[in-house]
Amino acid sequence: MHFLCEEAQELKQELIAWRRSIHRHPEIGLSLPQTAALIKNALSEMGLSPKDCGTDGCTGVTALIEGERPGPVLLLRADMDALPLMEENELDFKSEISGAAHMCGHDTHVAMLLGAARLLTAHRKEIAGTVKLMFQPGEEGYNGARHMLEDGLLENPKVDAAIAMHCLTGSHWKTGTVLTATGLLAKASADAFTVTVNGLGTHGATPEHGTDVIRALTVIAQELLSIRSREVSAFTPAMLSVCQIHAGNADNALPDSGYLTGTFRTFDEGVQALFRRRVEEIAVQTAKALGTSATVEFRGSLAPTRNDPVLCENVTGWIRELTDPGYQDSIGPVTGAEDFSEISRRVPSVYIDLSFGSADEGYPYAVHSPRCLFNEDALPVGAACYAWCALRFTGFDIPKA
Ligand SMILES: [Zn+2]
Ligand SMILES: [Zn+2]
Repeated sequence: MHFLCEEAQELKQELIAWRRSIHRHPEIGLSLPQTAALIKNALSEMGLSPKDCGTDGCTGVTALIEGERPGPVLLLRADMDALPLMEENELDFKSEISGAAHMCGHDTHVAMLLGAARLLTAHRKEIAGTVKLMFQPGEEGYNGARHMLEDGLLENPKVDAAIAMHCLTGSHWKTGTVLTATGLLAKASADAFTVTVNGLGTHGATPEHGTDVIRALTVIAQELLSIRSREVSAFTPAMLSVCQIHAGNADNALPDSGYLTGTFRTFDEGVQALFRRRVEEIAVQTAKALGTSATVEFRGSLAPTRNDPVLCENVTGWIRELTDPGYQDSIGPVTGAEDFSEISRRVPSVYIDLSFGSADEGYPYAVHSPRCLFNEDALPVGAACYAWCALRFTGFDIPKA
């Protein structure tokens, strides 16, 4: 076993304790005071000087691990927010907060990055450069990365490159498998939209006396779903889903208004702009043609997350050095989105995934399921991954065979 994996194994109980404590007390959004306090206490105990980082009440935390020699600066990111879900697992450390749960596994990310901090502080002598730890609130739709960037995340010292890691469960990869990208695209862009249609409600028996918003909503939904097939090349990955339609509350009355919502994803900023323009045009003009009116609101708007070609190749090699045979694989782009995109568009970056259990091992549910479970055996692997990439990036040489 790699020496750093052995050192990480010795931290396993501590990693589990951090993870379970955060799991019990999940916090949602940009302001995560309890989670930030746990992180700052743990970092302070290691002799580090954690700093608050974030605008508009965003409780991000950063800390520097400075090597004994000068060199480049690597940012390691862990997001730390929970989802607005009710956990359906019966665990000793089940979420104690109603309507909040760590079902995207960001509790594991925090524990692993704290573990990496412990490993790296013990190896300070071997670091030529600086490792900047980034603990980020608000990944799940709150643009937490942007709020930390606005507060100088990439300055003092200037960050040269960044690595993020995300847990994965319910896949076919066994626990502890580390996945690096096959190409330069990691995660899709994401924009959410709401189309609100207003018309004139009337008795269901006399639709000619009103203007039908149900008809407008269904025609708009059909046309939005056709943008991808009629206006985007078959060779360009892109998708749009209409995910909600709400209107009316009686069998025999047509409502005055209704709305639909959805999301579109792509890896191409030109296609992202096309979707945005066409959703607006189709909604407004279709509604008008059917005697109603529509307004469109967009939210989120994350750029695609990209891997840097050189860093990606290096990280893949470093993970191979660290992991046992059979515990490294590659992963193609996914249509999930990440606000790490805000960092990957500014500095060379790489996104890594780590399996916390396969369906065969008894972990059938993917992240965002209220029943998803995480095999904690992966925690030391993740801590070692963060730390090994940081050591290799900052000049740690392995003897040539
Ligand atoms: Zn998530
Ligand atoms: Zn997540």
